[in-house]
Amino acid sequence: MLAYTYTAPGRFELLDKPRPAILHPRDAIVRVTLSSICTSDLHIKHGSVPRAVPGITVGHEMVGVVEEVGSALTALHPGDRVAVNVETFCGECYFCRHGWVNNCTDPQGGWALGCRIDGGQAEYVRVPYADQGLTPIPPSVTDRQALFVGDILATGYWAADISQITAEDTVLIIGGGPTGICTLQCVLLQGPRRVILCEKDPLRLAFVRARYPQVLTVGPEEAADFVRAHSDHGGADRVLEVAGGADTFSLAWQCARPNAIVTVVALYDGPQVLPLPEMYGKNLTFKTGGVDGCRCGEILSLIAAGRLDTTSLITHTYPLADIAAAYDLFESRRDGVIKVAIQGPEG
Ligand SMILES: [Zn+2]
Ligand SMILES: [Zn+2]
Repeated sequence: MLAYTYTAPGRFELLDKPRPAILHPRDAIVRVTLSSICTSDLHIKHGSVPRAVPGITVGHEMVGVVEEVGSALTALHPGDRVAVNVETFCGECYFCRHGWVNNCTDPQGGWALGCRIDGGQAEYVRVPYADQGLTPIPPSVTDRQALFVGDILATGYWAADISQITAEDTVLIIGGGPTGICTLQCVLLQGPRRVILCEKDPLRLAFVRARYPQVLTVGPEEAADFVRAHSDHGGADRVLEVAGGADTFSLAWQCARPNAIVTVVALYDGPQVLPLPEMYGKNLTFKTGGVDGCRCGEILSLIAAGRLDTTSLITHTYPLADIAAAYDLFESRRDGVIKVAIQGPEG
């Protein structure tokens, strides 16, 4: 089968590999019908994910059809359409029992697919702990609607949830990329009084303005003054930092009102400074990533009900055989690309 493979730092290649097989009773084999490219894949390509294992098939955002199930799986059956979770988790350890699946203590726990074990930019993928990591897709939900459920939409849903948003809040979201827009949709579900989105890229700002007219938009330079002028208590009640830029962490806490919650979803390239003397007396609460992606069933129900829809993020579609061209487009950010969908041979 075709499998896009991390062969060496700086290098991904489309290789012919054997089809994966069940290795454990809780494994399932999924025929990948649609996958996507995530910025984390680019981090692997450029060697900035040290735990990524050369030789693995990349890809951790995908949907497909169950092909084969291990003997311990009773609720999953061949032929089921499923969303695949980015995280592998056992469902039984202390952290899993509290819903903190990102910190599952199983040796395979956490982000394994497409990083430490073979992922889904391929015709087939083996999913460990498939009873936890696969979620059936309702018949009325298409593959394109479900594509981001296990990764960036799970992230946005989790970030909105832990931010404890109320109806009187002004919520500032920093970052209008794919994860920022997923976060925006999930924040809007919580019904805050006002949402402000800060983004520097004019194309992304235009995308948000065209689709979410109720959202105020601003560039990073003007953000601090704008947020003060458009909030009720001298700053945002909730700040969700999804950009991960050089200055966006400091922008996040500076735009927050006293006693605000600042949720850091972003992954940074370098260390960030928490200048406690400067923020003394502001009494902020910080919450940090990464995602506990165990609510995919709820997200799929919201999609089925028409309350979440991220299909407009898919600006381009390529067949798996042309995945190198898809990476080239995604990496160069040409042609207004937001997300690329990769279609499996029978997808
Ligand atoms: Zn990802
Ligand atoms: Zn666990």
